[in-house]
Amino acid sequence: MSDSDELKVLNPATEEVLATVPAATAEDVDAAVVRAVRAQHGWAALAPADRARLLRRFADTVDAHLEELARLEVSEAGHTLGNARWEAGNARDLLEYAAGGIERLLGKQIPVPGGWNITFQEPLGVVGVIAPWNFPMPIAAWGSFPALAAGNAVLLKPAETTPLTALRLAELALAAGLPEHLFQVLPGHGHIAGRALVDHPDVAKIVFTGSTRTGREVMERCARLVKPVTLELGGKSPNIVFADADLSTALDPFSFLDNSGQDCCARTRILVQETALDEARDFLADALAAVVVGDPADEKTQMGPLISAAQRERVRSYVPAGAPALRGSAPDGPGFWFPPTVLVGERHDSPAAREEIFGPVAVLLPFTDERDAIRLANDTPYGLAGSVWTRDLGRALRVSGGVRAGNLSVNSHSSVRYWTPFGGYKQSGLGRELGPDALTAFTETKNVFISTEGPAQ
Ligand code: NAD
Repeated sequence: MSDSDELKVLNPATEEVLATVPAATAEDVDAAVVRAVRAQHGWAALAPADRARLLRRFADTVDAHLEELARLEVSEAGHTLGNARWEAGNARDLLEYAAGGIERLLGKQIPVPGGWNITFQEPLGVVGVIAPWNFPMPIAAWGSFPALAAGNAVLLKPAETTPLTALRLAELALAAGLPEHLFQVLPGHGHIAGRALVDHPDVAKIVFTGSTRTGREVMERCARLVKPVTLELGGKSPNIVFADADLSTALDPFSFLDNSGQDCCARTRILVQETALDEARDFLADALAAVVVGDPADEKTQMGPLISAAQRERVRSYVPAGAPALRGSAPDGPGFWFPPTVLVGERHDSPAAREEIFGPVAVLLPFTDERDAIRLANDTPYGLAGSVWTRDLGRALRVSGGVRAGNLSVNSHSSVRYWTPFGGYKQSGLGRELGPDALTAFTETKNVFISTEGPAQ
């Protein structure tokens, strides 16, 4: 754990220093909260249509800087250019979607005796968003933009290694006309700036995305203040492939290699029905060999580096030399490279099969039938995502019903869509982001009863 007063941002593909950013102290967080409280009062007092118009302008401004934001994500996070363009577009689209919710943030009129009863969805005040490094821009957006739309101010703490896109988004918000101090970015250390946000009595809610270990601490500290918290944590998601599936799509290696496997929804447990196991192994061997790993800024690159040397060491610890595995290739020299890998000799209860590796490494495991597939899929403390591949619709629905995870896809590997709720079961998290209820998660419900009983006539 470092207490340095500066964050050194590296390009993970070259190890060059891209920027040095001052690290926010606890005092900086306190001062930012004071400014945010003031800004939030003005923001919540604006007419809903005016808030919506400003968020749409912010979306247009992001759109006008899409390529710049994408290139920044490539250089600080090592994402491929295609992915980074999608990510900047996702931030823009979510702004549009959230803006559309502002004028539809409805309460209820509830029939009661003796009067009228109305509920209101009121903003919480100041919301703290703590983001990880693996998808710096989209995850910052998923927490922050619906919160802004619901009438809150936002203090965003990006990860130590990836503050640059968040800082740029805050500049673009100001350029688009959002009030000063409404959306502030506080780059800093987790145990200093992150903790100060969590502990601050005037920060009304924390949205935390990161490891289960840190999430547990955040939840414990929030409990002391009875502060609501949304947790988006780790995953070890199954890809359940029945023998009747089209293996060439079901075993798409980017289901676990996308973003070099640094994806909480990565399908890193490839469960294949035993009658198709040999075919699956042959297919994966060819598929891994064909993956283009290299400079993420090159349009042809399919997989970039890991985020840091420490992350590469962690990934390597799960793949001992000589472990039975299918492997692709990776560049030598500077940069935090690791080859696409599928471990083929693991037991389902080994560390590599149970723990989140967060790198381009999956395990291949056989199952016998539906019941066995569900049992193996659920044999993990996590429950974030998963895929089910079969041509039998009844079976797809039965297995989807049996797997305890928040985001399942049938005959698809997709997980996150801004139109639909996203979040985990079990130790993958608490609460949901995105989807039609995204704004409501950043409100308190107030109930007002109005008596119609007057003096007797
Ligand atoms: P991390 O838990 O180390 O850090 C996440 C964030 O928390 C960073 O901004 C960090 O500075 C901050 N932080 C660290 N200690 C803190 C503390 N004591 N108090 C407050 N904040 C603190 O996680 P990471 O390594 O950056 O991210 C990788 C993890 O994130 C993986 O486990 C991955 O599965 C998870 N993740 C989950 C989702 C999801 O939606 N479920 C999405 C992406 C990543």
